[in-house]
Amino acid sequence: MNTLRTYATPAVVLRQSDLGEADRIVTLYTPFHGKVRAVAKGARRPTSHLGGHVELLTHCRVFIARGRDLDIVTQAETIEPFLGLRDDLLRATLACYAVELLDRLTVDRSPEPETFDLLVATLGRIAEDRNPELALRLYQMRLFGQMGYQPQLRRCTHCGQSLAPDGNTFSITLGGVLCPECATADTLARALSGGAFRMLRLFEAGDYALASRVRLPEPIRRELDMLLRAYGEHIIEREVKSGRLLAMLRAERRAP
Ligand SMILES: [Zn+2]
Repeated sequence: MNTLRTYATPAVVLRQSDLGEADRIVTLYTPFHGKVRAVAKGARRPTSHLGGHVELLTHCRVFIARGRDLDIVTQAETIEPFLGLRDDLLRATLACYAVELLDRLTVDRSPEPETFDLLVATLGRIAEDRNPELALRLYQMRLFGQMGYQPQLRRCTHCGQSLAPDGNTFSITLGGVLCPECATADTLARALSGGAFRMLRLFEAGDYALASRVRLPEPIRRELDMLLRAYGEHIIEREVKSGRLLAMLRAERRAP
């Protein structure tokens, strides 16, 4: 009996590694099959009909045959190559951060169609938009929410009081904002400026168009980047590798 089953699906390539002489193992994120690992046979040969379509950070359509051990990519075509990521180191690093975070937050074959849509929209924004950093910030907040780690921004995480924008702290370990009276509930909680608090609420609502119109001063951008990175790394219990390069690129850009 033939145990193979084939299916076609859109996918984004989250990760790739070499296998043997010419094959490639790809980690794909798909809307209805979740995260899938598969072999693209011969993908590293220059003549391969698969290679160019299953590159890292590409939105493609793949045909997959279920294998006993690993699935096999039998055909692939590019839907969107996100060319803006290919010749810009900052954009490429932001996109790598986005897919690495998703890879760490998900288990195989646990489909979240909404997260797939968020990923594709975010890669497009990072590739093309004037402010690719904003796209990553909003993505992080939306992703945390979709994965069940929405930080508490409406009420104090400790006492439940509704929050005013100013004078609060953010507790990574308690997973949300603390009102001024409860700051001591987590001695490691970090100060949260009113500007950053408002932006987090805007990101939570997922309103990219509105968030794009806010002109954020540099200290608030830094505050948000550090907070979102620390919160994400607390959840996945490890460092996001592309985070280091990203921090370096940001520091370079700030240097006079
Ligand atoms: Zn409180």
